[in-house]
Amino acid sequence: MEPLALDGGPKTKSTPFASGKRFGAEEAEQLLEALEQNTLFYHFGHKVKHFLADFNQLYGVKYSVATSSGTAALHVALGAAGISVGDEVITSPITDQGSLIGILYQNAIPVFADLEPHTYNLDPKSVESRITPRTKAILVVHLAGNPCDMDPIMEIAKRYGLKVIEDCAQSYMTKYKGRLTGTIGDYGCFSTNDFKHISTGDGGIVVVNSGDEADYETTHAFADKNYRRLGTQLDRGTKHIAPNYRMTELQGAVGIAQVRKLPWICERRKVIGDRLNQVLASAQGIRTPEVRPDDECTYWFYMFRLELSELSCTREQFCKALEAEGIPNRAGYIPQVCYMQPLFQNRQAYLGSSFPFDLTETSYEPGLCPVAENILETAVQIPINEFYSDEDIRDIGLAVLKVASAYSTRSKGRVSYVEE
Ligand SMILES: *Cc1c(COP(=O)(O)O)cnc(C)c1O
Repeated sequence: MEPLALDGGPKTKSTPFASGKRFGAEEAEQLLEALEQNTLFYHFGHKVKHFLADFNQLYGVKYSVATSSGTAALHVALGAAGISVGDEVITSPITDQGSLIGILYQNAIPVFADLEPHTYNLDPKSVESRITPRTKAILVVHLAGNPCDMDPIMEIAKRYGLKVIEDCAQSYMTKYKGRLTGTIGDYGCFSTNDFKHISTGDGGIVVVNSGDEADYETTHAFADKNYRRLGTQLDRGTKHIAPNYRMTELQGAVGIAQVRKLPWICERRKVIGDRLNQVLASAQGIRTPEVRPDDECTYWFYMFRLELSELSCTREQFCKALEAEGIPNRAGYIPQVCYMQPLFQNRQAYLGSSFPFDLTETSYEPGLCPVAENILETAVQIPINEFYSDEDIRDIGLAVLKVASAYSTRSKGRVSYVEE
C-alpha cells in the first residue's frame, strides 16, 4: 500500500472536486417577474403561492405555509400545534439550534431523548421513557437526509395523545418505508437557507398534514402575526401572540425555480451517499451510517463513525490524514450534544431569568443521552455535493479506505475497493 499523504505518500485526490451553479437564468426570470408584479407581499403576489403549489404537488399534500426560515417553520408548527407555557417537547440532542428556538419562544421546555447509534436519529424507546404528564409533542429530526423510525414514534404519539412535528431541514425527498418525510407527522418543517438541498437565501415551509382547513388557517396565521387573511375579510382580532415570519415574493420566486431542481439534487445525493456506504461497508474501523432497507436517504452530508478499538489512531489523526489525502472533512457535527450548551446548563433561555425551565423537573446533566454523546465523539463528517462526479465519489471512498487501512490494527496494508 502507498504511504499516507500525511507521511509523504501520494495524495489520493489529485483533481479538483466537480462543482456547478445552483442558480441560473431560471431563477433570474422568476425574480424579474416578481418585481414586475409591483408588489413583493406574499398575499398580493403570486410567487410564494406558486412556490407552495409546486411543493405541495411534489409532496402530494394539500396545505403548506411559507416562512422566513426553517427555524420559523418549526416555531410556526409548534404554535399551530398549540404548544404553550410549561409544555414539554421531546426532541433530539444532535440537531441545529433552529429545532430548539421555537420550543423556548413558546415558553415550552425541550426534553432530550437518546438516539440510535447508527442512524443518529431518535430511539423510540428513549422517547417513550421521557414522557411526563407535561409532554405535548415530539419534534423528530431526520438528520442528514435519513428518516427517523416513524412507525413506533407515531404509535407512541397516538397512545399518549401527542403532536408530532418533523424537522426535515436536512431531509428533502427522504423516504420512510416509501412515504416522504414531512408528510407523516402532524406538521413537516423545511428550511431553504443557503446550505440546504435547495436555497432561497433564507426561507422555510410548514406542511400541514391533517388536510384540515381550520388547521391550515391556524398555521397560516401563526406565521403572520395571527392575522387571518385566508377568509373573505382580513381579521386582525388576534387572541394570542404570533410572530411575523412571512416569506417575501423574492424568495418565493427563487423557490419556484429551485423546487424544479429538487428531485435531481436529491437523486444525485442519494446515489453518492449510497455508493460510499456500499464501498465502506466492510472497512476496518469504520461504521457506516445505517439506512434501513425500506428507507431512502438523501444525504445532506455523509457521516460515518470510527470504531477506535480497531484503529491505532485518534479521531483527530484520522481526520488530518483524510484531509491530507485531499478529502475535506470534519470531526463530528455540532461540537457537543445540545443540552451541554450554557443555555441549558445554566437554565437560562432569557437573560436574567430561569423561566420556563423552573416550571419543570427536566434536567440536562452530562450523560443524559450516552449514545448521542458517543456519536459526536466518534463521527467523521464528509460534505456531499450533487455536482460531485463519479470520480470524486471514488476518490472519497479510496481515501477513507486508505486511511482506515493504514491505521487498522488488523488487516495492515490491505485496501479492497469494490463497487457494484
Ligand atoms: C438548518 C436547520 C434548521 C434551521 O433552519 P434555518 O433556515 O437555518 O432557520 C433547523 N433544523 C435543522 C435540523 C437544520 O439543519
